[in-house]
Amino acid sequence: MANLNERMVALGTSRSVIRELFEFGKQRAAEIGAENVFDFSIGNPSVPAPDAVNETAIKLLKDTDPVVIHGYTSAQGDIEVRKLLADSVNRRFDTSFGPDNFYVSVGAAAALCCCLNGLCNKDDEVIVFAPYFPEYKVFIEGAGAKMNLIPADTEAFQIDFEKFEAAINENTKAVIVNSPNNPCGVVYSHETCTKLAEILNAKSAELGHPIYLIADEPYREIVFDGIEVPYLPKYYNNTLVCYSWSKSLSLPGERLGYVLVPDEVEEHGLVYAAVAGAGRSLGYVNAPGLFQRVCAMCADMTADITIYETNRNLLYNGLREIGFDVVKPDGTFYIFPKTLEEDDVAFCERAKQFNILIVPGSGFGCPGHARISYCVPTERIERALDAFKKLADSYK
Ligand code: PLP
Repeated sequence: MANLNERMVALGTSRSVIRELFEFGKQRAAEIGAENVFDFSIGNPSVPAPDAVNETAIKLLKDTDPVVIHGYTSAQGDIEVRKLLADSVNRRFDTSFGPDNFYVSVGAAAALCCCLNGLCNKDDEVIVFAPYFPEYKVFIEGAGAKMNLIPADTEAFQIDFEKFEAAINENTKAVIVNSPNNPCGVVYSHETCTKLAEILNAKSAELGHPIYLIADEPYREIVFDGIEVPYLPKYYNNTLVCYSWSKSLSLPGERLGYVLVPDEVEEHGLVYAAVAGAGRSLGYVNAPGLFQRVCAMCADMTADITIYETNRNLLYNGLREIGFDVVKPDGTFYIFPKTLEEDDVAFCERAKQFNILIVPGSGFGCPGHARISYCVPTERIERALDAFKKLADSYK
């Protein structure tokens, strides 16, 4: 038997609930027609990138020396790209970052891995709030640290501060927050961010070492009703931002994002070096060169997200009318209602009988809920509401 890294073999072979749902959906579509399968399993943007993205890419390919455009960039990202990123962020958030605050990464996934590997030593703990993006656990453990999960505040999906404070200990190295949130769509309020910063400042002082805040923000621009997403570096000095264009520009396959290490981060030069060192050690240097330039040149744009808002309204109102208990999402393309029985896995299994494919909340650390991804054609939601009604009736 091959003597392999067992953890990696387990990660590579473990069955993905979402992938299984996808396969089930394909099979049902062949049996009853694709229009009768209500697949809400995957969080893949369903609107195209703005036309300017392709136009910029084509122009760059036509006008730039091919040796340059296809060549290596600096490990931390092309300098002109990082200048454009700093300008864009400064314009939008009234900050004064420079190119050396940015480390261009292979999507938010790599940005998070660079932060976690750069910051964490063995036995360190990283606090995560439920409901959470399940890959956090993989990334944290990959960095040799432990995830410390804080149960959800299921009333509003803000933060249960009592549980949070009680969980902080001398091994706490970092806290990850994700607002707007996958899977519940909620944005952390100004009050939540203020309180979070207060606790982190007090606890860092008490413990004698900084607790870093990692703000994972791939959904920052996907918000509705003009809601503002608080910019966490303005609340707490030791904040690292992990950003991505996967969702805002609908470019998940291009694998582009960045880590922002503000000057206000304690020993920011060393922290930046640690992030860059982690990128080097993980083989993530030099994020894709063409799309570094495209994303930087289109950094102020967002894909047309009006369909997500239409879908959010339709689903939120429809589910409530049927009798679901659900917190209204402020953004993203997910909604996270309570399931109609305690066992969310059983509920999602029963939903399959009505050809509804949704993901159990347990995988997001929040049992008793299910995630519905509404980055789908609006028509699918219109047709699915009747199936959700039948599903609910089956519990009466
Ligand atoms: N963080 C969250 C909360 C996500 O939902 C995702 C992707 O779905 C990621 C990070 C990873 O994003 P990327 O495609 O930029 O690696």
